[in-house]
Amino acid sequence: MTVRVHKLAKELGLTSKELVEKLHALKVDVKGSMSSLDDDTAVLVKEKLAPKKKKKTAPKAAAKAATKPKATKPAKAPKAKPSPKKAEPKPKKKETVPPAPAAAKEEVVEAVVEKEPEKALKVLKIDLPITVKDLAVKLQIKPNELIKRLLGKKILVTINQSLSEESAASIAEDFEYKIERLPTQEEVLLTEHEQDDPAKLKPRAPIVTFMGHVDHGKTSLLDMIRKTKVVDKEAGGITQHIGAYEVELPKGKVTFLDTPGHAAFTAMRARGANVTDVVVLVVAADDGIMPQTVEAIDHARAAGVPIIVAINKIDKQNISIDKVKRQLAEVNLAPEDWGGKTITVGVSAKTGQGIDDLLEMLLLEAELLELKANPDRLANGVIVEAELSRGKGPVATVLVSRGTLKIGDVVMVGLNYGKIKAMLDDKGRRVQEAGPAKPVEILGLSGVPQAGERFYVLSDEKKAREIVSVKRIDADNKKLEAKSQKISLEDLYNKIKEGEVKELKIILKADVQGSLGAIKDSLEKLSTSEVKLFVIHGQVGNINESDIMLASASNTVILGFHVGITPDAKALSRQEGVDVRIYNIIYEAVSDVKAAMEGMLEPIIEETFLGRAEVRQVFKVSKVGIVAGCFVSKGTIPRNAMCKLIRNTEVVFKGKISSLRHVKDDIKEAKEDFECGISLSFKDIQKGDIIEAIETKKVARRLK
Ligand code: GDP
Repeated sequence: MTVRVHKLAKELGLTSKELVEKLHALKVDVKGSMSSLDDDTAVLVKEKLAPKKKKKTAPKAAAKAATKPKATKPAKAPKAKPSPKKAEPKPKKKETVPPAPAAAKEEVVEAVVEKEPEKALKVLKIDLPITVKDLAVKLQIKPNELIKRLLGKKILVTINQSLSEESAASIAEDFEYKIERLPTQEEVLLTEHEQDDPAKLKPRAPIVTFMGHVDHGKTSLLDMIRKTKVVDKEAGGITQHIGAYEVELPKGKVTFLDTPGHAAFTAMRARGANVTDVVVLVVAADDGIMPQTVEAIDHARAAGVPIIVAINKIDKQNISIDKVKRQLAEVNLAPEDWGGKTITVGVSAKTGQGIDDLLEMLLLEAELLELKANPDRLANGVIVEAELSRGKGPVATVLVSRGTLKIGDVVMVGLNYGKIKAMLDDKGRRVQEAGPAKPVEILGLSGVPQAGERFYVLSDEKKAREIVSVKRIDADNKKLEAKSQKISLEDLYNKIKEGEVKELKIILKADVQGSLGAIKDSLEKLSTSEVKLFVIHGQVGNINESDIMLASASNTVILGFHVGITPDAKALSRQEGVDVRIYNIIYEAVSDVKAAMEGMLEPIIEETFLGRAEVRQVFKVSKVGIVAGCFVSKGTIPRNAMCKLIRNTEVVFKGKISSLRHVKDDIKEAKEDFECGISLSFKDIQKGDIIEAIETKKVARRLK
């Protein structure tokens, strides 16, 4: 007996074309929809292509689900798209769930036909964590019924207890629902805050940062501008260093960030704040372009911020402005008067010459950029600086991005919130409100935020308290997980496959200019149609903190060739989760990147020993199962650790510890010389076995 491809496709809920493709992937040789498959092959193919059920699913539910597709899905609908129709009109009761955010409200229950026909699960949108009571309401069953069902899954809970995502998902699946997390209060708030009515936008001042090589005059220029342009109009106004200041010119205002240099700029960016609208690159006319000038250019470019060049110290003798302009052209910043696009202004921080021109250019650039914000709304913005003041408590300098910040506003920032008690401007005067791009110091926060964190004004304090308390719990949980969300060569392949990564940005450090150029060329040649490779910053020298922050802010990897990494940079790379690799052979560097793109890069798994426990007795405990009564002979056994079960020097099982107890209590860790009960998902534990807790870490392949 044989079966035609188109028939089998119909059975599997696929189009013939889709099935043919899948068959080819399975190396089954078929020509088209009229080709035949013998029975054995057909059975195998069905097994392979039929969606796999999760183990968790109760057999009954699985059987039910299996009969479902015919009912819900017309056989000819090939590609499963969410059904436009609502689910079978089921709502027996009116929804009694807590008010959901507007966007999600009307679609609490919605049928979605999944790609695979057997998984016709309906979507159930819920808040997580969810209490047993609330989930019962959502599933339209009695809480007692739910508790019983949970008990059947060995989950013992009371009606008001919260369920984990896993438990909720497992029970929902029995009712043919797939749970989907509703946006949290914070997510709803942030989305609201990012939206603006285009009609309400009004021009705002540009925010400017000075960058450049050390001693080229960044600080002097900032001081000179402040001295000559910030005229105190009111008595008692003395300029204060609050991290930013504002200059008022006949044609408009300009805001300057008072911490010059690319380190501060990039550190803020790494925290998520790209506040700078224009970078003024300061180049001393007597010195020209220097290593940190190049670094600054790369940092500004990585942030996508336009650059205006201030050629400083033009009061000096024996300088050549033309030489500086030639150098600028060499780094792709050809000046306008040389046929390029870069605005350059000659200035002197000593005599004040050219400063007015520079300010005028900044206003022009702002106009070109069409910088706008809506001042008539609840404010949000960025923390520029913050500290704990002895008399005043936490003080923070902020720049408003949107809206107007007012005394009495409830502000949430990171894990802190508070009501604004007072606001001071850059002249130390009390102000009642601050609109877009106006720097002010605020008082009244519950703690000291971090520079670069975003703040949001909320309509009421209760909401702020609720959101922050959830965030604090999350933060505590996250502390336990190692953080590493940045791109690494190891996960590159998967990210390319998932379409998450279209370009791999690289920071390259080498010992000599020659190697730098050679590696850069070889790497950029690896670009494919799927992923483009480019070096956003390449320089001679050791890997430093500024490289790490640039990598963190721009989500890049760092490749070093014959260079070292400073201890501070190394520590920072761990903290920021930045992938740093050092090579001694050019070929190795290039081939590693190539392998990573093809998913062939094998990470090394490094194991660290944490503790050893000897199994002295094995019990069977109702509800828990097999428990190994152990004695910790060395180190500690943490509850969340990976472990190896060793029998006669052979590893018979490797996996997570499923429960760790002392007498009857769950414990977080068992210390040396203590007794504990350990259970694993592996049941064949024997007296005399050794359980070793280990920490595993993927490490980059590194040479010598
Ligand atoms: P930064 O490291 O870029 O902030 O540079 P500074 O502002 O600290 O300036 C370094 C040195 O250059 C100081 O001694 C300044 O007095 C001097 N300097 C800065 N701008 C000028 C200028 O326009 N002309 C002259 N002659 N000296 C300047």
